Amino acid sequence: MSYRDLSLWFDQLSEPLEPRAALDRDVEVDVAIVGAGFTGLWSAYYLLAADPALRIAVIEREIAGFGASGRNGGWCSALYPVSISTLAEEAGREAAIAQYRAMRGAVTEVERVAVAEGIDADIAHGGTVVLARSQPQLERAEEEAREAAEFGLDVALLGADEARARLAATGVLGATYTPHCAAVQPAKLVRGLASVVEASGATVYERTAATSIEPGTVRTDRGTVRAATIVRATEGYTGQLAGLRRVLAPVYSLIIATEPLPDSTWEQIGLAGRETFSDHRHLIIYGQRSADGRLVFGGRGAPYHLASRIRAEYDRVPRVFDLLERTMHELFPVLRDARITHRWGGPLGIARDWHASVGLDRTTGLAWAGGYVGDGVSTTNLAGRTLADLITGRTSELTGLPWVGHASRRWEPEPLRWLGANAGLQAMTWADARERRTGRASRVAATVNAMMGR
Ligand SMILES: Cc1cc2nc3c(=O)[nH]c(=O)nc-3n(C[C@H](O)[C@H](O)[C@H](O)COP(=O)(O)OP(=O)(O)OC[C@H]3O[C@@H](n4cnc5c(N)ncnc54)[C@H](O)[C@@H]3O)c2cc1C
Repeated sequence: MSYRDLSLWFDQLSEPLEPRAALDRDVEVDVAIVGAGFTGLWSAYYLLAADPALRIAVIEREIAGFGASGRNGGWCSALYPVSISTLAEEAGREAAIAQYRAMRGAVTEVERVAVAEGIDADIAHGGTVVLARSQPQLERAEEEAREAAEFGLDVALLGADEARARLAATGVLGATYTPHCAAVQPAKLVRGLASVVEASGATVYERTAATSIEPGTVRTDRGTVRAATIVRATEGYTGQLAGLRRVLAPVYSLIIATEPLPDSTWEQIGLAGRETFSDHRHLIIYGQRSADGRLVFGGRGAPYHLASRIRAEYDRVPRVFDLLERTMHELFPVLRDARITHRWGGPLGIARDWHASVGLDRTTGLAWAGGYVGDGVSTTNLAGRTLADLITGRTSELTGLPWVGHASRRWEPEPLRWLGANAGLQAMTWADARERRTGRASRVAATVNAMMGR
């Protein structure tokens, strides 16, 4: 498989996608980073901004952006996997608000760096519209706007006409809208960032697989990297590293993209500001209008695989692609004849309590960030800045945020993990179907959320 086939986004790159040089000997650096996705590269970027003399090695099994970072839906959003109410219960109201504010800041920071570093990632800051297309969805939209207002966050509740003016899907009863999201071309962003980090002095070793991470040492298939500080930035792939199998579960999300659509079609659909969009169903769907006028549409629903297995064939599940296509047609009947040109997917990382976290163990020098669920495009930026502060010993507003040092409990051993993860998926699908049939909110989804600690 060619790297170009990884996603629409990779296919759109004009660069030749030749892997950078692999590690060819043992090396010693100040900071070793495993994984050249957004987490690893933002960490390198801010570390070098803080101290240009740092010797940094980024170790990547494939090529920069190979993982979720080069394949996602391109929402650079202020979404955070734990609701603000839950976070407030756990960490206190002010801490929860600080975390959510920092997330909003991450969206603008990504845009700022892209401009400052000359990375053209087709960014459009249009916000996000999340439709309500049934009575239970409308109730959840109202609840979300109410919860946001209680914490001083700006999530607007739109009436049916206002919602349809932004996105004319079928059956729209209302929507929530937040301005805190930008649509991005993620492969351009992550590949651009890799070049910037390299030009700033880091070495990115590609086609080099880490086999284990221990204090002071990263062992790879090409040599050993010694470093006082080691950052684990492997997200959905973390379970493949020795001793880390139950830390993050790799859960797949899949995407389809249409051919570029004519303006006349976009006039019927909307998204004039390239707003990202979703609806308030339980089993997540998401979309964006790409810079070249395609509808890019994704969702969950692909199974979790026993023993956290990750294989190239799991990126493409015909049943899920068909379901996505049907859902897209149901939302936008005008797209019935539009050609689907790209289908792809990839694993994201979920901690047992659904919490993202970032941290540094000063006694071992081992640092990590991850567990972003489907909200990593901006959260990785916050993680990178936070790791840079932690590693360079700078106490800052960021190092006091509640996700810093958060320790999630481990996932259950198999086959319990497999049973639980897939039962959760089934329950969400079932809850959506039941709501469609009865018009009443399903309690099943709330129960599953509570069990997962969300
Ligand atoms: C289909 C899909 C859609 C998504 N949509 C969105 C979205 O719209 N908005 C959003 O905010 N988030 C979204 N996400 C999540 C987001 O993409 C991720 O949270 C984010 O990219 C995580 O970045 P990362 O650098 O931590 O991990 P990754 O990008 O997965 O990077 C990890 C890297 O580590 C490398 N690696 C793994 N193991 C090793 C090893 N042993 N040795 C060396 N290298 C290794 C991998 O090859 C990979 O390049 C989506 C994810 C998927 C899969």
